[in-house]
Amino acid sequence: TAVPPRRPGRTRLGVMGGTFDPIHHGHLVAASEVAGEFDLDEVVFVPTGHPWQKAAGAVSPAEHRYLMTVIATASNPRFTVSRVDIERNGPTFTVDTLRDLKRQRPEADLFFITGADVMAEILTWKGAQELWELAHFVGVTRPGHDLAAPVGSSGVNLLEVPAMAISSTDCRARVAQHKPVWYLVPDGVVQYINKYGLYLGPEPSAEAGH
Ligand code: ATP
Ligand code: MG
Repeated sequence: TAVPPRRPGRTRLGVMGGTFDPIHHGHLVAASEVAGEFDLDEVVFVPTGHPWQKAAGAVSPAEHRYLMTVIATASNPRFTVSRVDIERNGPTFTVDTLRDLKRQRPEADLFFITGADVMAEILTWKGAQELWELAHFVGVTRPGHDLAAPVGSSGVNLLEVPAMAISSTDCRARVAQHKPVWYLVPDGVVQYINKYGLYLGPEPSAEAGH
């Protein structure tokens, strides 16, 4: 698929959805690379509310994940963070995320960014066929996963990005084992994790600010 050309008067808005528990440099490099290659004006990071694939209680409180995402993206003038998914009740489905963003940003053409692991699952998502109408999709390489466009999809681009063998799961395990996460996540996120004692025990920690 060719890269969609810029349309007069339209904003090119990347959408980076994720649990961000915690956000790490794999997410940031993916967003930055897609922004460069696709000439995006902005990338909005959207922390999930309750991810429907993950068990209740398995994920840190949304407010912590939101704040870490704000800290990690604050220095980039093109990166922003949206609360649409954390403010919607019930499990997060990407079709709802894209509908809400389209309503809030009618001037924007949406480019949804996913890693190879997520790209492989998209056909199992609620409203899979509607997804291709709501946004252009960009799948990026991720170490340990094969990247391919889903069967029957349209408007999907694939992009090789610098290989970052980092996952949030590994970052959480490292913190629990008192191993460093310096240079895997931004400095401010290391400090936030330590400040609130995230990921130390088997249970997710209490709300930020309480
Ligand atoms: P977890 O281990 O908790 O699932 P994660 O590291 O996979 O965390 P997510 O928040 O689940 O992070 O991922 C959000 C999005 O970022 C997904 O589309 C995922 O494929 C992509 N992504 C995450 N890590 C990388 C990476 N290292 N390289 C490329 N894409 C990534
Ligand atoms: Mg993941």
